[in-house]
Amino acid sequence: MALRTQKIALNPNKKQSTQMSQHAGYARVAFNFGLSSFKVGLDQDEWRSHVDIKREFNAVKYDKFDWCKDLSQNASKNAIHNLGDAVTRWKKGQNKFPVYKNRSGKCSYQADNGYGTVEVHKKRINLPKIGWIRMREELRWTGEITKVVVSKHNDKWYASITVRRLDSNNYKHQPVLFDDKQPIGIDVGINTLATCSNGDTYDNPRPLKRYERKLARANRRLSRRQKGSQNWYKAKSMLSSVHARIANIREDAHHQATIRIVRKASAIGIETLKVTNMLKNRKLAKALSDSALGGFLSKLKYKADRRGIPIDEAPQFFASSKTCSNCGHKKADLTLSERTYHCSECGFECDRDLNAAINLCPA
Ligand SMILES: [Zn+2]
Repeated sequence: MALRTQKIALNPNKKQSTQMSQHAGYARVAFNFGLSSFKVGLDQDEWRSHVDIKREFNAVKYDKFDWCKDLSQNASKNAIHNLGDAVTRWKKGQNKFPVYKNRSGKCSYQADNGYGTVEVHKKRINLPKIGWIRMREELRWTGEITKVVVSKHNDKWYASITVRRLDSNNYKHQPVLFDDKQPIGIDVGINTLATCSNGDTYDNPRPLKRYERKLARANRRLSRRQKGSQNWYKAKSMLSSVHARIANIREDAHHQATIRIVRKASAIGIETLKVTNMLKNRKLAKALSDSALGGFLSKLKYKADRRGIPIDEAPQFFASSKTCSNCGHKKADLTLSERTYHCSECGFECDRDLNAAINLCPA
């Protein structure tokens, strides 16, 4: 049994997006109601479970929040359930005590009522009390839908759909299969995202650099507006959409590169990135956080893991760049500006990153 979650952008009409906002608001109200009830309980040395709180909420909801009768009760039910999880984790010392949710916070709710209660058909999803909403893409997996969380970021709606029970081969879209799978070593970097020992390279889009001026302008615009005014909210949403654009470009490049690599690899060798050390170099820090190499490697790891491809992480101080991939000679020093590796022992010459990738390639 495995669970897979896919987050899909929605294309709702005006009425549907209003309805989703109402449901998210309902979830917030229920959560806050539950939290204050739980706090009252604590004051009286009484541990109120989510079942108790749900019962209490259901008894008063149609009087206190009569507008909720047109909404799906799953929203409030799941919100109180989540509250129950949150306080349980708090008791175990796993997280902080939950806080009240406010309007400016996350806008989301869980729409399902357990396994198989939300239907998806091609590029549409049937949300309780709202109906069929268009999705931007089809669900990638087949299986039973166990959970659907609807959320809004940067004025766009998304559904995170979790699917259960699937075998490794029930991907709806069968990927291109490569017969000649081979071990691949990967050198990750700032200019070229990944250089592979088989000669493939994947560029780094570095979106922050590209959007730097736009970002600065959006920041300035926001700082000039009066906080809390209509125009301030407008400027705030513009700024967050620039941030979202940057994140999307980066994520997309990482997903495309990692999926291509795992489709070709029988084993993968990478270096152990000490990003925290590298961030201390101020010149490198900005470029590094822009390329988000840690995110790239974690995607590579989970995709390889799903396909059963072993990943070999080189020891932290393994000199992948300084060592000659032909004869094994190790250079005393190698500056960052030397883009070509030239071996003084055997005369081997090779692109610097490719040389490192070959060194990282698992045998
Ligand atoms: Zn050599």
